Amino acid sequence: MPHTADSRSETEKRDLRTGQPLWLSDGPPKLAVRQTPRHTRYDVIIAGSGISGALTAWHLCDGKRRVLLIDRRPPLTGSTPASTAMIQYEIDTPLTKLSEMIGKEQAVRAWKRSAKAVQRLGEIVRLENIPCGYTEKPALYLAGDEFGFRALQKELEARKAAGLTSRFIPAQELRDTYGMDRTGALLSEPSASADPAQLTAGLLRRAMDSGLEIVSPMEVGDFVATGAQAAVTLSNGQILTCGHAVFCTGYEFLKSLESREHRIISTWAISARSRSKLPDWLDNHIVWEGSDPYLYFRTHTDGHVVIGGEDEPFETGHMNAAKLERKVATLVKKFEALTGVALYPPSHRWAAAFGESTTGLPFLGPVPGHTNIHALMGFGGNGITFSVIGAEIVAAAISGNPDPDASIFAFPGDADAP
Ligand SMILES: Cc1cc2nc3c(=O)[nH]c(=O)nc-3n(C[C@H](O)[C@H](O)[C@H](O)COP(=O)(O)OP(=O)(O)OC[C@H]3O[C@@H](n4cnc5c(N)ncnc54)[C@H](O)[C@@H]3O)c2cc1C
Repeated sequence: MPHTADSRSETEKRDLRTGQPLWLSDGPPKLAVRQTPRHTRYDVIIAGSGISGALTAWHLCDGKRRVLLIDRRPPLTGSTPASTAMIQYEIDTPLTKLSEMIGKEQAVRAWKRSAKAVQRLGEIVRLENIPCGYTEKPALYLAGDEFGFRALQKELEARKAAGLTSRFIPAQELRDTYGMDRTGALLSEPSASADPAQLTAGLLRRAMDSGLEIVSPMEVGDFVATGAQAAVTLSNGQILTCGHAVFCTGYEFLKSLESREHRIISTWAISARSRSKLPDWLDNHIVWEGSDPYLYFRTHTDGHVVIGGEDEPFETGHMNAAKLERKVATLVKKFEALTGVALYPPSHRWAAAFGESTTGLPFLGPVPGHTNIHALMGFGGNGITFSVIGAEIVAAAISGNPDPDASIFAFPGDADAP
């Protein structure tokens, strides 16, 4: 089922992934969920139990607000557990390119906000003591066929001028220190990697300690918003009222917000063990490249190498079983050729729906025309970083202190964004 027009729900419905992600080896993390809501009135109702919904709930649950999170699937079985969870401030669109698209000032603000979000996520994980293998390590962005040596140098200058931490690694140093043969690379901080399923489960558990109620499986159908009130219908026919509703429904967009500015594509990933001891640098960096299609990789704390990429611009490509086998072989071959590290056959292989927007930025904030209906959507390669920003923007709006960067990430047509 690629994407069906389910008339009862405001959100699309699609098959989000195939295969078996590393993070679900023992099944999704267990959470205490209810089958039906305890109340008929909430301060906030969140749809979606992935990283976006979890971060939003974590920000909003203060022991005073009544917050309900609803998912049409069992918790943590959407796109989040398919993520390779490289947590970076370097967003899909280089700063130089984004400046041409939306202007230098806005682009610098978007990039700087991303850097702050990565730092903030690390703080939250430490504060809440979430066991998810969260490891801070610099990111190495390799020159590739789309973004080569000269483009990297221009990018470095733009980042330096914006006050972002990046260093140019010339070809010789790249060969000597990392054993990789490219014309250059940018080394940047802050960045990190984690187990996305455990990260999300940890956030949800902490929010539950502060009063979050989770109902699953249950679908949010349609919504109506009038002034300061909203009402949502559920798939069991119940109608709930709330002050705010937040749609954190990942790649199942709100149908009313479908637009040419973002689209669903397909992506592939594997995890595998190395046939020999991994070089130290590989354990201490995350790596990606300026090529199309691109390759990216990092290690996990359990010793697996996690590799992804080979994106295709088709929303159902990830459903094709024969293609999965071909993509797995390509990812292994490219990784081994680039790093010289030989792998055992992959222990896990998976494919998933993924996103892309015209600017590389997501859409976060109020749904145009509704001040108390919010949505976080349009995520690409930096989905987790953008989920942090989205949760902050929505929590600020609900608390009545609009986020100063809200307009950068606003939905087209949201004239009220500050
Ligand atoms: C293979 C892959 C690799 C990735 N790698 C990275 C990476 O390295 N770094 C990074 O930052 N990002 C990465 N991403 C992107 C990132 O994982 C996503 O942006 C993120 O997981 C999306 O989270 P979410 O909570 O928005 O969506 P989801 O995790 O999909 O959660 C949405 C939930 O909403 C529920 N839902 C939908 N409609 C309704 C409804 N009407 N009622 C109730 N519930 C509903 C769904 O059932 C689902 O559980 C990757 C993504 C993929 C697929």
